[in-house]
Amino acid sequence: MTSTTERSLVLIKPDAVRRGLLGDILSRFERKGLIIEALELRTMDASLADAHYAEHVDKAFYPPLKDFMTSGPLAAVVLSGDSVIEVVRAMIGATDGRKAAAGTIRGDLALSNRENLVHASDSPDSAERELALWFPKI
Ligand code: ADP
Ligand code: MG
Repeated sequence: MTSTTERSLVLIKPDAVRRGLLGDILSRFERKGLIIEALELRTMDASLADAHYAEHVDKAFYPPLKDFMTSGPLAAVVLSGDSVIEVVRAMIGATDGRKAAAGTIRGDLALSNRENLVHASDSPDSAERELALWFPKI
């Protein structure tokens, strides 16, 4: 695997903040060797939710997802490192916390398909789009 330093947009979702898991989750990324380039507590509003989840706005699960994502503060994070997009997706695990492998963040700490603690960019194109949305000045 060739070495490629890149950036990913990670959201540590409102359930994680409410449950007091922010430090635990950030610590996993730090211990992996990834670099926190930016970190802000933000509350998503409806228009940012619609833009962020543009690929999902017409799906049946979107209205409750939008309610959840706008329900309180989340941590918006820019992580950088070698192959960070793929590495972070592997660290967070499958979308459904009930099915995510043990050892992953969702596998260890989540039991829901919706309230699954973390969002992470899933490709270089989505990272570019999401970073522009959340951190336009970086
Ligand atoms: P991921 O966050 O793993 O990339 P998706 O992009 O498919 O997953 O979905 C975005 C988010 O929407 C998920 O993280 C989860 O919070 C929610 N979600 C996805 N599928 C469902 C579902 N079937 N039921 C409820 N919520 C869902
Ligand atoms: Mg996704």
